[in-house]
Amino acid sequence: MMLLENTPKHRLRTIKGVTDMTMPPNHEWTPERVQELTKLWATGLSASEIGRRLGITKNAVVGKVRRLDLAMRRAPAQPKREPNVVTLDRLKANQCSWPEGDPGQDDFRFCGSPAVMGKPYCEKHCAIAYVPPKKKQSANAA
Ligand SMILES: [Zn+2]
Repeated sequence: MMLLENTPKHRLRTIKGVTDMTMPPNHEWTPERVQELTKLWATGLSASEIGRRLGITKNAVVGKVRRLDLAMRRAPAQPKREPNVVTLDRLKANQCSWPEGDPGQDDFRFCGSPAVMGKPYCEKHCAIAYVPPKKKQSANAA
């Protein structure tokens, strides 16, 4: 009941000078109503609650919010991947392209460590990829 004082309905009626109780209000997006919607949306109320206050359906609220391109609340635009994950599109020429994880999985990534000059991998992965010719070395030393 107290909530009614916050709705712009009486104000709108005064402005328009008509009692439009019978008019379907959901087709009427006056600047005042848009402002009210934006305000209510920002407070974190649910779409259905906002709809109730504005006298429109939840779908009308959601639809209008989409059209207004209001930031979607409670869904902070967090990237799914951690920022340090090196994906194929982020991999640079001087970064280790050693694949980590399953290519079919979401967490598939590349090592991304600084690559050894002239090699596609970092020191650690070069050691795995290219088995150092130790035998030859020790043979030479002997
Ligand atoms: Zn590496």
